[in-house]
Amino acid sequence: TYFNDFNISDSIKKAIKDMGFEEPSPIQEKAIPVILEGGDVIGQAQTGTGKTAAFGIPVVDKVTSDRYVQALILTPTRELAIQVSGELQKLSIHKPIRTLPIYGGQSISHQIRALKQGVQVVIGTPGRILDHLRRQTLKLDRVHTIVLDEADEMLDMGFVDDIEAILRQVNTERQTLLFSATMPPAIKKLSHKYMSTPKTVTI
Ligand code: AMP
Repeated sequence: TYFNDFNISDSIKKAIKDMGFEEPSPIQEKAIPVILEGGDVIGQAQTGTGKTAAFGIPVVDKVTSDRYVQALILTPTRELAIQVSGELQKLSIHKPIRTLPIYGGQSISHQIRALKQGVQVVIGTPGRILDHLRRQTLKLDRVHTIVLDEADEMLDMGFVDDIEAILRQVNTERQTLLFSATMPPAIKKLSHKYMSTPKTVTI
């Protein structure tokens, strides 16, 4: 399989080329076509396998330049939020969309100003995302895709209640993607509760 075989726009293919990716990694080869079908997907993959682009390519392909949040990616740490935002920015370099990392420890007023610029993809840690939802400085009513990245880490860090509170505020018509290195019972429980007939891809 080559990136050209995927049903994604030329602007994303060009960005992938700019990034120097020659061929899809195994998780990308398996997950991207399934995610592009539009249903819920569980991806079991470790860091370093190319999992970010596995969900990032379909996400940036689907998002339009309309000025509202369309995709939300939850990460366990600020470092991962920044890293994922950077990778999505590279993937969308030829497309007029904005990605914004949002995490605790950074000034909330700075984040509110950035959100007002019109952001299409938000990548954030659960606590700070929930904080913005409570302040109504972030609206998720038009989010069509939600990604739980490193879901096992987020549960280990005690974010389960925050994640559930966020998921309850996103349209049930959404596409939910869950990536995790391991699949403990708590992850299975979360997927049963908040995902609709997910397909699982493993490498
Ligand atoms: P990740 O598992 O998402 O943390 O990705 C690990 C690293 O691999 C990152 O630096 C990516 O930019 C890079 N990467 C992702 N997909 C590919 C690919 N298909 N070819 C080459 N490098 C890649």
